[in-house]
Amino acid sequence: MQSMRLSDTFEIMKEPVRVVCEECGGDDIHRDAHARWDTGNQCWDLGTVYDDTNFCLDCAKHIHVKEVEFKTITLKLKEKGLRS
Ligand SMILES: [Zn+2]
Repeated sequence: MQSMRLSDTFEIMKEPVRVVCEECGGDDIHRDAHARWDTGNQCWDLGTVYDDTNFCLDCAKHIHVKEVEFKTITLKLKEKGLRS
């Protein structure tokens, strides 16, 4: 029986998705969010992400989104036998 590394298990369990525009199927999707300046770390901390404000750059308008199945490049390489 072939052993399974922790990284293999993670790749199988997380089931990644692509978020795409319901109208054109593109994934150049943006959402509004609030960020707060963190003086100690000298960067913006991302706070709330608003899930009702989806904007598709391809359609150039606000749209609805959907999640579709996405396989990582790593999994595709494994299917082709290019990575153990
Ligand atoms: Zn679109």
